[in-house]
Amino acid sequence: MVTAHTWHPGTGRVVSRWPVPVALAPDELFSMWLVRAALAQGVDPLVLAGHLWPKWRVWTIDLDRGINDERMSTLARESGIDAEKLREAMLLPIALVTGLEREAASAIWHWVLALGSRNRKRRGGLQYCSLCLADDVRPYFRLHWRLAWHTCCAVHKVSLRDRCCHCQFPIEPNRLAATDAMTSCSNCRGDIRHGPALPAADAALAFQDCADRVALTGTGSYGIHLLQAKEWFRLARYFLMLLRCAARRQVSGLGKCLAGLDPGVSRLRPPVTGLGFEMLPTLERSRFLEGVGALIMAGPEKLRNAVIAESMKDTSLRQGWPSLPSHIDSLVRDLPQLVRSRKAKGNAAAASMSRQTILYKWARLQRKMRRAS
Ligand SMILES: [Zn+2]
Ligand SMILES: [Zn+2]
Repeated sequence: MVTAHTWHPGTGRVVSRWPVPVALAPDELFSMWLVRAALAQGVDPLVLAGHLWPKWRVWTIDLDRGINDERMSTLARESGIDAEKLREAMLLPIALVTGLEREAASAIWHWVLALGSRNRKRRGGLQYCSLCLADDVRPYFRLHWRLAWHTCCAVHKVSLRDRCCHCQFPIEPNRLAATDAMTSCSNCRGDIRHGPALPAADAALAFQDCADRVALTGTGSYGIHLLQAKEWFRLARYFLMLLRCAARRQVSGLGKCLAGLDPGVSRLRPPVTGLGFEMLPTLERSRFLEGVGALIMAGPEKLRNAVIAESMKDTSLRQGWPSLPSHIDSLVRDLPQLVRSRKAKGNAAAASMSRQTILYKWARLQRKMRRAS
């Protein structure tokens, strides 16, 4: 059964230096809590950030990736919330579990939606469930709405949205004004809770639930193998890459091989923009994640059989990846031998058929000779 998971419990009532104390709600996203805190004080997010950290252009960066200790202690002092609690509402703890290397200063964090910031404007990166926001007494944005494997709401079983339902602009609460509500669109000022909520795709919801469990427990499985969360997410990423290759080349051995494990693969189309996974719209990610879920569920044995049946080459499975997930790596390394033995078996079968034919013909010839003599 698909359930909603908890990433952090939030805080109870807080004592704060602000005129209106604003507690952290369960699973609330750090940067969006800061926006909510600003609106509660009757100022826009730019003003509150300028008061906390003069000369720091906070809203041009991805604040949920983390802030330094000095800035954090200023915020903790002012808000009355422990730094530890605030860090739990950021993306770093989840990103580290799912494979982020601390030293890597990469522009994109795998599995975290990219904001595509240009000054304060954003191209995307934040999703929401209109029904969750409608149910909230004080509407707030959830941490998991920024995770790239999230495409559905596990509570309401509907698809998440990543655009305003009125003007189709990205969701940018950081650009709200003091007089706006948390559920206003920063572009058209419409209420983003409006509009129909579309049902979630079952397979995308199931994959999301599975990936949540892996991120929260630190382990996941592939067939009989137990993998560390990092390895599991690398395997998921590998299948994502294979599915994008298969979607680009509709008629290919790779496409046939993967469609043997998940018929949905033949309906996949390459993303319109060709952007990286963390920049794709919710709907496009959802389709690819359904496929990833099916390939992981199929397990290594079925993949091995499909690969041998299609006589796949190791280069098709490698696709230029310098190091493959461990269970894929062993399959790819054994591949030339496996395909050769399949061909040899095929040739042996053909040879034995022809021997039978010869024997049959020889017997018939002998019968003819006996009748003639
Ligand atoms: Zn919801
Ligand atoms: Zn709008």
